[in-house]
Formats: sequence, structure tokens, C-alpha cells
Amino acid sequence: MTKLRDTYPLYLANEAWAGNADLEVTDKYTGEVAFRVALARPEQIEAGIAAAVKAAEPMARMASYERRDVLNHCVTRFKERFDELAYALCVEAGKPIKDAEGEATRLIDTFRIAAEEAVRMTGEVQPLDISPRAKGYQGIWKRVPIGPCSFISPFNFPLNLAAHKIAPAIAVGCPFVMKPASRTPLGAIIMGEVLAETNLPKGAFSILPAHRDGADMFTEDERLKLLSFTGSPGVGWDLKAKAGKKKVVLELGGNAAVVIDRDADLDDAVERTVFGAFYQSGQSCIGVQRIVVHDDVYDAFRDKLVAKTKTLVAGNPHDRNVFIGPMIDVKEAERLDRWIQEAVSSGANLLCGGKRDGAMLEATLLENVGTNTKLNREEAFGPVAFFERFSTWQQALDIVNDSKFGLQAGIFTRDIFQVLDAWDHLDVGGVVVNDVPSYRVDNMPYGGVKDSGLGREGIRFAIEDMTEIRNLVIRRR
Ligand code: NAD
Repeated sequence: MTKLRDTYPLYLANEAWAGNADLEVTDKYTGEVAFRVALARPEQIEAGIAAAVKAAEPMARMASYERRDVLNHCVTRFKERFDELAYALCVEAGKPIKDAEGEATRLIDTFRIAAEEAVRMTGEVQPLDISPRAKGYQGIWKRVPIGPCSFISPFNFPLNLAAHKIAPAIAVGCPFVMKPASRTPLGAIIMGEVLAETNLPKGAFSILPAHRDGADMFTEDERLKLLSFTGSPGVGWDLKAKAGKKKVVLELGGNAAVVIDRDADLDDAVERTVFGAFYQSGQSCIGVQRIVVHDDVYDAFRDKLVAKTKTLVAGNPHDRNVFIGPMIDVKEAERLDRWIQEAVSSGANLLCGGKRDGAMLEATLLENVGTNTKLNREEAFGPVAFFERFSTWQQALDIVNDSKFGLQAGIFTRDIFQVLDAWDHLDVGGVVVNDVPSYRVDNMPYGGVKDSGLGREGIRFAIEDMTEIRNLVIRRR
């Protein structure tokens, strides 16, 4: 039987530090304190940053096979600790156990991809003799690590979204300080425990749970060369304004749409849309919020989706039959409950769900949601989605683009020309064909446009941000 400890340390300059246990982390289903974690004071954040600055050179000097071996060690240990990792997610995030196992599997994928990329850091030879003044000149460029990095991660994927920053940083040789989400710090702490088993240079990593006052240091300190933030748009754009000269990568929120064309396989699209809208209680930045359906199949698709949604089992996330667990806290569930009420009182039809008990909110579907309601314009980030109709493909694309966000979109169609149209004209970071926008594999470029962010993750793409190009120009004599 998997069990968590009562207390966990933070990691400062590669070492566990258990000087306090001030951060209480609750079991999100029972609401009771599940364990306590050491909370970083400003002095420790300062020490973590100073140690990362010192570690920059020894990290950059590591051979690529040494960095690969560190990442492979993590892969092995995560496999050995798989059940514990999934259990931790189930407790601290309230994530249904099957989703938790899915995330632990993706953590392993992410580190494995990074191990492969660590030995593939290539550059390019470039002829420079483009005019008489450059005759005999040749260029070669390579990538060098950008230096100490600052990472801030959100509550909803405590392992894999931290991994999308930590693993590429190790692959390229960047030391880092990380602030995990205060509501779900354990995933990153366990990664710290595993990294502490390796021979990374001292100061290579610090995992520092911190309150907001300390959090500013992760953004503002000029010794840090990159801020990579995943979280809500309000916080992300605010931090960018305070980040000074450092590079900034923002992976933020969305209100993703899926389009169901009249030739779609409706049963297949129903299965995938239910998953996209309601897995981990809709708390995914690419969760389906807007379901845009062709007039000809609107009624049939709506009725099938509503019927399927009513069968979803809600309850204790440790139960393998449960699909809908709690939202992250009661406050968030109350917020979304209010948005549903606002939509209904301004004319929306509630098709199923809509009831709340503490942090448990039923899987909810609506139609005729007013265009000026919060549910329509903002990010729901919970188990709620609504239908919209279209009659021409251009209308469908316009509806998807009518959002301040742009992470990913899903389109169910068999028409290759419509696919190409969507790829050209949807203002998003990625288009997924015959699946929901919620689909992600960990080596693909991933990120958003508009309010949804800046830059891309997906190991190779994060590596670009974590490195600078350094050129060498050679004149032949
Ligand atoms: P959040 O913005 O509240 O918090 C994210 C992180 O920032 C946490 O570690 C938090 O403690 C920290 N933080 C909050 N305020 C801060 C401040 N003023 N200074 C420094 N740090 C601060 O987000 P959340 O509720 O944890 O996560 C949900 C959000 O994250 C949603 O908007 C979701 O769409 C987004 N998200 C985006 C992606 C993506 O890859 N695009 C993935 C997952 C989640």
C-alpha cells in the first residue's frame, strides 16, 4: 500500500533541507492536511539563486553523455517509484488515479526525450562568402546554455509541467531554481529527491516552495537569464512586466474549441470530446470548453454527448472507476458555479450537471451561452463546456478565433482542404485533426498565441529558449 510521509524537505543547492514544515498541503478530496513541506524563506531563495549562478560554469562543462546519464537515472528511478508518484498526484491534486498514472507515464517520456536530446545538440556550418568582402570566410554556430534559469509551475500537472522545464535544463546544462505550485508541491519535491541522487554540480538545482512574497525573487533577480512560467494568464503577463532583461517563456491558459463537422464519426468524436472536456475535472489549459458543431449533426451530436456525460462517475479519485474528481479547491468550484448561474440567468440551457458539493462540481454541458458571459469569454478551467453551431467552415473557423486565447484547437473533419484551411487560419499554437485540442505528446512543439502565452515547450523547443547561439567566424588565409 502506497503511503506518503508526514513531512517533506525542500531542495537547496542539490541538498534536502528540512528546517521547517510550514507549508500545509491538503488531500484535495477529503480537504484534510495530507502532509507538510518545508517553505523557503527569502534567504534560501537568495542562496538557491547564488548557488545556481556558481553552478553555471561546471554545468556547461559537463559532457553531453554525463547530462544524458543524469536524465536516464531519473527515468529509471521514476519507473521504480511510479506507484508513489501517481498516488502523490491523486492526493495533492485530487487527480483520478488513471489520469495520475497517465501523468507519471508522461513524466517518464519527458525525461527520456530529454536524455535523447542531450546528445543531439548540433549546430550548423554556414558559408559566409556571399560577396567579395566575405570571400574566404566561413561561419559555424553552436548552442551554449543560457545560464541560471527560473521556473514557476502550476498546480494541475505537478509532475509533467515541472518536468518540461527541469528536463531540458539538464539536457543543455542550465542550473535552475524552481518554485512549484504551493497547492501541489510534492511532484517537484520528489523530482528533487531523485536529482539529489545524481552527480550534478553543486547548485545545479533548487526546488523551493515559496509564498508570493518570496516568489518575486524568481522573477526579478537579474542574475537569472530566463523565466519560464506556466500558470494563469493574469499572473504570467504581470510577471513578464517585472522580469527585466531576462528571456521570458509563458505557458498560459485558454478556452479551447473543438469543431465537429457534418462528416465526422460522431461516436468517436463523442468519446474524445468527453475526455477532452472532463478529464481531471476540466482543469487542463487545453481542456475542451467550446464545442462547435455543424448544423446538420448538431442535435444528434449534442444528445449523444449529453447521454455519455451523464454516465461519468464522480467521487473519490483513488477509485479506479472515477472519472471526475474534485476541483483544486472549494473557492475555484464556487467561482465556476457562479459562472454557470450567470450563463443560465442570461438565457443558456443547462443540458446536464450544474450541481456542486464543496469542491466537487458535476460534469456540466450547456447551450445558448451568451457571448458576453464569463463562461463564454474567460477560461473555465473546470468540468464545464458548451455547444455552438456553424453552417459553413469559415464560420467554424471564425468562432474558434473569436477568443482572446489561442493554445490548441481540435477539428473532426474528413476534408483535407478544410484541414489545410484550419492550419492556415486558426490563430492557435497547434491544430489537432480528428482529436480534441487536449491532445499532447511531450516531444511536440507546444504553446500558445494571443493571451495564451509566448514561446514553446516540448523538449527540443524549450532547448532553443534555454540556449544562446554562439557563432564562430573563420577567415581562411
Ligand atoms: P497560477 O497562475 O495561480 O499559479 C501558477 C504558479 O505561479 C504557481 O506556482 C503559483 O504559486 C505562482 N504564482 C502565483 N502568483 C504569483 C506571483 N504573483 N508571483 C510569482 N509566482 C506566482 O496558476 P494555477 O492556478 O496554478 O494553474 C492554472 C493555470 O495555469 C490555468 O490558467 C491554466 O490554463 C494554466 N496552465 C497552462 C498550461 C500551459 O502549458 N499552457 C499548462 C497548465 C496550466
